[in-house]
Amino acid sequence: MDNERLSLPQYDIPEDIQNAVTITTLDRLYNWGRRSSVWPLMFGLACCAIEMIAAQASRYDMARFGMEVMRPTPRQADMMLVSGTVTKKMLPAIVRLYNQMPEPKYVVAMGACASGGGPFKEGYNVVAGIDKFLPVDVYIPGCPPTPQALIAGMIKLQEKIDKESIKKVRWYRKGPDTVEVPIPILGPDLIDPRRNQEIKAAAAQKATKESA
Ligand code: SF4
Repeated sequence: MDNERLSLPQYDIPEDIQNAVTITTLDRLYNWGRRSSVWPLMFGLACCAIEMIAAQASRYDMARFGMEVMRPTPRQADMMLVSGTVTKKMLPAIVRLYNQMPEPKYVVAMGACASGGGPFKEGYNVVAGIDKFLPVDVYIPGCPPTPQALIAGMIKLQEKIDKESIKKVRWYRKGPDTVEVPIPILGPDLIDPRRNQEIKAAAAQKATKESA
């Protein structure tokens, strides 16, 4: 860990017990535990997933970050790595999986598609960025990002975790940050339940215009 960027209590340890005693903060210990065992949820959405798989193989070795244990269940995962094009059909399943992950949990948008729709942004079936629905912690640019870029993104996520404080993290607070993300409804198009009022008002306006 980088001592420069982490909070350290300013106590001097006497020289004769320096080999036996160390002093740190609870935040630092807690962050070290989390940043060293970020288990990703195992799924891929499109071509970016191939790079994600390559990053997990022996040549790049994500094990050094404690991130090699990809979990096939959201109940045991800490990080959702959105690797690929997010289609409207797939989105309800992605949001449901996110809601099933226990806190603390992080979201990484890997590649142009997950970050903003990518080359398919204008497509009728594509969501223009997973951040329209889930809170993204790190964006990794590229189409596709290389395994090295993915690893750089993971290091950024670790740096973000290093700066967290258990007094401020969202999962120990009450409020809108900890509320489940409403699962979008897939009909003829995607409906975001958070925009229900807006959709109803627009439909009422349209009906009034048509009846006039
Ligand atoms: S960003 Fe490029 S490589 Fe990644 S899923 Fe989209 S089209 Fe495929």
